[in-house]
Amino acid sequence: MNEDLTIRVDQTRCVGTGQCARTAPDALTLGRNGRAQPRDQHSTDLDTLTEAADFCPVEAITIHLASTGEQVAPL
Ligand code: SF4
Repeated sequence: MNEDLTIRVDQTRCVGTGQCARTAPDALTLGRNGRAQPRDQHSTDLDTLTEAADFCPVEAITIHLASTGEQVAPL
């Protein structure tokens, strides 16, 4: 659990593979539009979120510090 992280999914890039939701199912889910959306952003540790972002084939996921907006993954 990490309360200082925010997940962003670029809806214009996501192609709906679902890989991120399989890697971090508490943090990401496929929405009704077939694209990934953040779910419980505080449920998953940074390593798992980074793995989900790294697996995305279109680099649609970024992880940020909620307090400053600084991107912390992927780097
Ligand atoms: S891995 Fe990337 S392309 Fe696939 S659903 Fe997640 S955000 Fe979308």
